[in-house]
This record gives sequence, structure tokens and C-alpha cells, in this order.
Amino acid sequence: MNLQFSVLASGSTGNSFFIGNEKTQFLVDAGLSAKGLEEQLIKIDRNIKDINGILITHEHIDHVKGIGVIARKHNIPIYANEKTWKSIGESLGKIPLECRNLFDVEDNKVLEGLGIESFAISHDAAEPMGYVFHNNGKKLVYITDTGYVSQRVKSIIKDADIYIFESNHDVSMLQMCQYPWHIKRRILSDVGHVSNEDAAIALSEVITDRTNRIYLAHLSQDNNLKDIAKMVCTQILEERGHIIGDKLQIHDTDPKTPTELVLI
Ligand SMILES: [Zn+2]
Ligand SMILES: [Zn+2]
Repeated sequence: MNLQFSVLASGSTGNSFFIGNEKTQFLVDAGLSAKGLEEQLIKIDRNIKDINGILITHEHIDHVKGIGVIARKHNIPIYANEKTWKSIGESLGKIPLECRNLFDVEDNKVLEGLGIESFAISHDAAEPMGYVFHNNGKKLVYITDTGYVSQRVKSIIKDADIYIFESNHDVSMLQMCQYPWHIKRRILSDVGHVSNEDAAIALSEVITDRTNRIYLAHLSQDNNLKDIAKMVCTQILEERGHIIGDKLQIHDTDPKTPTELVLI
């Protein structure tokens, strides 16, 4: 069974990631309106009604905005850890009890052949998580909204075929921008977001010969540019002995346009 995926939307205006195989289809996060998410899925020829579950990374609105309406309208199971459920509370309206499912941090489940593993990341949320997916010998890592990538996380995400990896900002653009100091400090902190450079350095330590595609995700619309993020990643990976080309591709992601649906 092939693994299929597309980054439907990525950035501080809303995040959602589609992943599945022939038997099951999941989303990671639903940070768009229900209607917006339905439209993004149509663009990759998929339907919200076929989604078997939504895995939540953390409670920030750019990751959960649509889940209340989606749960009520389509009765789709939503998975989050207990602390994340607590912080969501009633903020998104009533979420039917049967839609509320637990997915603990550092846990794993196998659903229709799709292995899903959660791991703790470092971000200013209740209990933020990244996910690793295993399907038919293929491994895909999804990690955004993390201030840094610990050795422990590196050991979990090492040696994957595909990475969806946060590359939030260019440090000098962030330092010079109009944001108030406390916001800059938060973004740059260990519980904020990883910079282009930090993302590339972490990637250089976890990718292997089997790694085929890297998607740079959650790019800041104020303090980053797709070309800068890709250039920094290319330079750092090449400095560290990795060759960027057909066998190892670097892609960007977009707040509005889904990435091409890929089957591996
Ligand atoms: Zn976010
Ligand atoms: Zn966040």
C-alpha cells in the first residue's frame, strides 16, 4: 500500500496536512475553516467525508481553527492528548464526545496499516507533539512549531524518507522587523519556532541516503521567503556532504496552495 500525502496549508494563517494509504486517510491539524479545508482537499481530489481522523499537534488556533465545525458537521474523530484537549476546552464550540479521542504523547497506534507515533516537541503550548508515520516500510516525519530539536527528537525522527519540517524565519529578517521585542524573543526562544538555519542543521543530522523529499513548512509570511529558506537549507546540507537533486529534493509549502499529492 502506498503512502500518500500533501501539505494542504502551512503557515501562521492555518496548517493542515493530508496523509493516508489506500485504506485510511488522516489529517494532521485543521487550522483552516471547515469550508477552507474542504476546498483544499478538493484541490488534491480528496473529500473531507472520507477522512478517518484528525491528529492535533497543539491547541494554537492556526492548528485547530476548523475542528469544532468539522466534528459537528462530519462527525470525524479528533485525536489529541489530554492537556491539549483541556486547553481547547469549549473555545471552538461543543465537540461531540464521540469525536474526542486521546492520543498521548510518546504513544503509537496502527490504523489500517498506517503506523502513527507521537513525540514531544518544544513550544509554548500545553503539550505539543510531532508525528512520525510508518507505512509499508516508508517513514514520514511531521514536525512544526518547535523552538529547537532535541537529541531525543533527532533520534526519533532519524532516517526517514520524507520530512515535513518547520523552517519558520530568517533570523536577520526577524531581528529587523517591526514586531515588538517580546514577540521576537518568544519566536527565537526554545519554545518558539525554528529558524531556517536551525532547521537545516537539524535536518543535516537526521537525513540519510533514504531521504528523498524535504518540505519546508510553517514559513513566516513577514520574516521569511521561500527562496531564502530553500537556499539556506541547500547550502547547509551541501556543506555537510548531502547532494541536493533528484534523489534529495527540497520543496516549499504555501498557506493557500496544497503541495502536489505524492504517492511513495
Ligand atoms: Zn503554528
Ligand atoms: Zn504554535
